[in-house]
Amino acid sequence: MKTVIFRDRHEVPALGMGTWNMGDSTQTRAEEMASLRLGLDSGLSVIDTAEMYGSGRSERLVGEAIKGRRDEAFLISKVVPSNATYEGTLKSCQASLRRLGTGHLDLYLLHWRGSVPLEETIEAMEHLQERGDIIRWGVSNFDTQDMTDIEAHTVSCAANQILYNLEARGIDYDLLARDAEKGVVSIAYSPLGQGGSLLDDPILKTVARRHETASGPATPAQIALAWTLRQANILSIPKAGTRHHLQENIDALALVLDDRDLADLDSCFPPPTHKSALEMI
Ligand code: NDP
Repeated sequence: MKTVIFRDRHEVPALGMGTWNMGDSTQTRAEEMASLRLGLDSGLSVIDTAEMYGSGRSERLVGEAIKGRRDEAFLISKVVPSNATYEGTLKSCQASLRRLGTGHLDLYLLHWRGSVPLEETIEAMEHLQERGDIIRWGVSNFDTQDMTDIEAHTVSCAANQILYNLEARGIDYDLLARDAEKGVVSIAYSPLGQGGSLLDDPILKTVARRHETASGPATPAQIALAWTLRQANILSIPKAGTRHHLQENIDALALVLDDRDLADLDSCFPPPTHKSALEMI
């Protein structure tokens, strides 16, 4: 299985599981739980959640899914900027740990940059790390200048979680390479364009027709996912609320897009030719 390696040499599968909007409805909860458990059964250890998702409902669902199997999971959660003061970060982390039913997070992220000075949040992250509440920390939605600002204080930022899919590939210009060079893992969020128009795109359908996967003829979603996974140092975290989607996403790990596929995708979703501000959801 393709993997990514953090700066402390910890290695995880390059495909993880997003959980935004999970746990919100009693009608879909059981299937969402089954999807997360199938992921763990299949070796997908990385589960991404946040205190913000459903005001804690996503973290509670994840907590239930990993019950009795904490050691199989690599848990990521996030603090919202309005809570990211020194004391606020410590408090938010404790609340996330409680909802998740665990003693530690594997990675704790600042969800996006807000008005609290970075050094204050970093100090809290380092304190949480020292006392073992989190193993490593990172950021999300940080552009190149934001990463430079972080590096003025520390070199221990482990990851940057950013929007990345064929329709939002501005970071191909500089941020992805920069993060890789500095030992920061890039975590691609919304790799399927949130299941929207990207998956109906004719060029994805054309490329999909050229490939087979273990679950049958490739789908546009699998092509979109394989595209985010085509380079090293990227951990892609699609959200799959059903076991069927989850299995398709796992099977996409084995897909290798060739030069013709990549050129066809580039022709409809051109690589950036200049710097643009980081897009975020
Ligand atoms: P995704 O791009 O992962 O798309 C999710 C949608 O795609 C869902 O509707 C899902 O449907 C559908 N889907 C999943 N697998 C397939 C498949 N094989 N075929 C067809 N459709 C499929 O969007 P998200 O915005 O959820 O991003 C992923 C994760 O990234 C989030 O869940 C969250 O953890 C994280 N994130 C982080 C942000 C940040 O600011 N740091 C912002 C946004 C997201 P179904 O549920 O029915 O399976």
